[in-house]
Amino acid sequence: MTSSPRLLRRTRAVLFDFDATLTVREELQVWRLFPERGGFGDAPPPPKTGTKRLLQSGEGEGNDAAPPAPVPVPRAVDTVWLRQKGFGGDTRISQLGEMFEELASLGVELHIVSFAQRDNIIRALSLLGMIHFFGDRIVGWQELGGPSKAGFIQRLMEERRWAKDQVLFVDDQARNIHEASLLCLTKKSGESGLDEGEMDEIRNTARGSTSSSASGGFGRAEASDPAERLHDLYRMV
Ligand SMILES: [Mg+2]
Repeated sequence: MTSSPRLLRRTRAVLFDFDATLTVREELQVWRLFPERGGFGDAPPPPKTGTKRLLQSGEGEGNDAAPPAPVPVPRAVDTVWLRQKGFGGDTRISQLGEMFEELASLGVELHIVSFAQRDNIIRALSLLGMIHFFGDRIVGWQELGGPSKAGFIQRLMEERRWAKDQVLFVDDQARNIHEASLLCLTKKSGESGLDEGEMDEIRNTARGSTSSSASGGFGRAEASDPAERLHDLYRMV
């Protein structure tokens, strides 16, 4: 039985939070992505008094000020809003795509671990043409089954037999990062979505290089003794 040292060092998975990590917002409301579900709880805010509906179709809505009233008229998803206000614009979306592409080419499994609704995440990534990077490896709040992400991450890592330094968890919330930090590598992003520098750090980690960034490092285990890594890899076998 042989295992190459390179394999042991390799990042096996990156687990991304969704809201304000992949997106640039705290939330993508359900009605933004499923206009046909407008109503109870998911309804857009009512139009301001005295304003008339200015738009008959979904075209041209670029702001939050005057969403259409929740009338039962099917509307298309406003993909312009999604790209600009949800994900920070086409340049950032391209950067995300390039990062996913490189991670996938390195054999890194991409997951989403989020308190958002799974349906929302799938719809948004499908509309952006990025769902194929994740497949069914998307977990929302229903699937998490509790107020913590750490339990799920621990179960996933045990199931896959991943060692602590083979998994990177990326999230904008300090609490989530703190809870996961005992389990795997962590990267706390800013709270308005991953920026280009942070994406570069993630790519560097997956390549196995050490980030030279002075701020917000990854908490990668310093020890690189092959014997210790072997121990980590096989401790659950
Ligand atoms: Mg978040």
